[in-house]
Amino acid sequence: MRIGEGFDIHVLTEGRKLVLGGIEIPSEKGEYAVSDGDVLLHALIDAILGAKALGDIGKYFPPGKEYEGISSTILLEKVLEISKVEIGNIDSTVFLEEPKLGPYIDKIRENLSNLLSMNMDRISVKAKTMEALGPIGEKKAIAARVVILLKESTMEKIKTNKAPGAIGPYSQGYKVGNFVFTSGQIPVNPENGLVEEDTIEYQADRASRNVGEVLKAGGAGFDDVIKTTCFLSDMKYFAAFNEIYAKYFTSSPARSCVAVKELPKGVLCEIEAIAIVK
Ligand SMILES: [Zn+2]
Repeated sequence: MRIGEGFDIHVLTEGRKLVLGGIEIPSEKGEYAVSDGDVLLHALIDAILGAKALGDIGKYFPPGKEYEGISSTILLEKVLEISKVEIGNIDSTVFLEEPKLGPYIDKIRENLSNLLSMNMDRISVKAKTMEALGPIGEKKAIAARVVILLKESTMEKIKTNKAPGAIGPYSQGYKVGNFVFTSGQIPVNPENGLVEEDTIEYQADRASRNVGEVLKAGGAGFDDVIKTTCFLSDMKYFAAFNEIYAKYFTSSPARSCVAVKELPKGVLCEIEAIAIVK
């Protein structure tokens, strides 16, 4: 899990627009900056970059002519591209004395929701005055603080080159949180539909060990398997296969020894297993 925090402050001056979260707010004063000075988006950008330890806004958009008058929405879009974040939720506070933000809060949230492709109920925007204290209280500045939590994609592909024989698509898996999912296939010769090597026992052993290697690459073992199924293309292989299969998958409480399933052409068997990494 990752968290990000961002803070920004700008001088308020007459003759500038007040832009917050990409929305223009009617106001006598606006943010003084090279860009549109959107403190809320700037703090959000820093929170996003911070969550991924990618530095800060100045690293990607150094003050200069290039960004003169640029909409911070464009900066945010670039940062989303760079960081590839998926945000779980956002909490933010804008510190300003006036105008009252109440009537604009939902508009800002809606705009953020569109910019970030996430639900509004995961975006909080609050406003706070400084009770006339300090530069913000004296209406000389505006600031924003943003905290975000990242939704990290937990699905991770497992690859191993240790699987005996069947490699590539024939033995691979995925790890999602504490779960490891594997699916190993044993191919037959597509020309004549025959088992390619030696005997069916050999294939069954190899398929089981393939699954074992993928489990191992995902941090689990045969003992951690909670559900496994072995699918055969033809029941005539049952006896031979079942014996070998049972040898490896001994402790799984939900073991379906062998089931018959229509498998893709050229596939003799498929073993699926789900394990929990302890
Ligand atoms: Zn700024």
